[in-house]
Amino acid sequence: KNPRSSVIIVGAGISGISAAKVLAENGVDDMLILEASDRIGGRVRKEEFGEVTVELGAGWIAGVGGKQSNPVWELAKQSNLRTCFSDYSYARYNIYDRSGKIFPSGIAADSYKKAVDSAIQRLSQEANHDASTAHDVSVLAETPSTPKTPIELAIDFILHDFEMAEVEPISTYVDFGDREFLVADQRGYEHLLYKMAETFLTTKEDKILDSRLKLNKVVRELQHSRNGVSVTTEDGCVYEANYVILSVSIGVLQSNLISFRPPLPRWKTEAISNCDVMVYTKIFLKFPYKFWPCGPEKEFFIYAHERRGYYTFWQHMENAYPGSNILVVTLTNGESKRVEAQPDEETLREAMEVLRNMFGPEIPDALDILVPRWWNNRFQRGSYSNYPIYVNHQHVDDIKAPVGRVFFTGEHTSEKFSGYVHGAYLSGIDTCKALLDEMRKDKGRKNENQAFL
Ligand code: FAD
Repeated sequence: KNPRSSVIIVGAGISGISAAKVLAENGVDDMLILEASDRIGGRVRKEEFGEVTVELGAGWIAGVGGKQSNPVWELAKQSNLRTCFSDYSYARYNIYDRSGKIFPSGIAADSYKKAVDSAIQRLSQEANHDASTAHDVSVLAETPSTPKTPIELAIDFILHDFEMAEVEPISTYVDFGDREFLVADQRGYEHLLYKMAETFLTTKEDKILDSRLKLNKVVRELQHSRNGVSVTTEDGCVYEANYVILSVSIGVLQSNLISFRPPLPRWKTEAISNCDVMVYTKIFLKFPYKFWPCGPEKEFFIYAHERRGYYTFWQHMENAYPGSNILVVTLTNGESKRVEAQPDEETLREAMEVLRNMFGPEIPDALDILVPRWWNNRFQRGSYSNYPIYVNHQHVDDIKAPVGRVFFTGEHTSEKFSGYVHGAYLSGIDTCKALLDEMRKDKGRKNENQAFL
């Protein structure tokens, strides 16, 4: 039988690790971290591709240069993480049509203005609409500025999936500043998590050797009562604790991977199922040589296709890794799910066709392709939570509220910064503080009872 811990943390992404660090700093050393995969990091994940390190999950530190410092930017500075300034706002002036011509900047600017107007109209409709369905654009009426042509569709896609800050103030940019930095470090974005883990777990030569972190432990059942929590993993192990912090993604909470006994109350399950999950996929392509422009303001470019989101947003990696000859194309939601379901050769064929439309038939074939599958990963089930701009505050409160001895954390529990690394990091700290309060109260109640007896 495993010894009972004070707290079990399910998941070793940045929220789980930041929660564990705060526990350790407050003298709670007998915590246990159960992680389903064979590594820490979760959606902060690097992979070697084309002789460099690429980030399959989070790639940017968003929100830098403001009055208040982004805590993840602080961690990056402390760890000397290599980053480069990144600005995709000018991507709208590098829009290619199907015949490889770049749209004149006047046309691009007009289409951009139209897309912003449409977004503002849509948002005001959302504001007057039931918040729980507001993110479902299909229920909103068409407006005269609804995007229709390939360039309008492309800009609409960029605006909604990348640049929403230009339409509505976003807390990340308001609080921390509007600059963004791309992580370009061979140790990966995940190096920040290792540095954090190092402060409270035993490590040797960049490896965590601490029995309080258990990898390959897929939690399948959480039995909770007034007296404690019992956690069962897929390999049949049972771990007991006074409390649990659950840091798995909203997509995992929506799936049936973890069952709760007794089941979660209805207000909780409804809040979980009403949360929209965004799928965001960065596809990496390695080439024998560069055939794309690399001058100033050319890092990002757009392909205008009649299908919204079809291989629309492109980036070259020459700023991050000169000479790497790597292109990245970002797909989202329906397009992400479609390519996840097909063989990578088919995705490569589609991407090459788009590139040949933009740059001509003579460009070389890609040597390699990497297609992350966040939607089909049973430990993720999507990329991040997607709350509507006019979020119902009760909805987020319900998602993060504890149920008895089960506490919830992760980017989806952050009202201000959901969907970001700093949102996840800060949520781990918040949840842990709430738990420490509860532990103090519990201790107080026990002392009172003892005094009474
Ligand atoms: P996770 O990192 O998902 O941690 C949860 C952990 O729980 C995982 O390790 C998982 O394996 C584990 N787990 C799941 N199920 C179980 C189980 N049953 N038992 C045990 N363990 C389990 N943010 C930015 O700030 N900038 C960006 O540029 C950016 N880009 C992104 C691009 C992509 C493609 C993706 C996917 C995300 C991006 N994000 C970005 C968002 C950011 O990565 C996340 O907000 C953040 O990493 C989430 O951390 P977390 O701790 O909440 O969750």
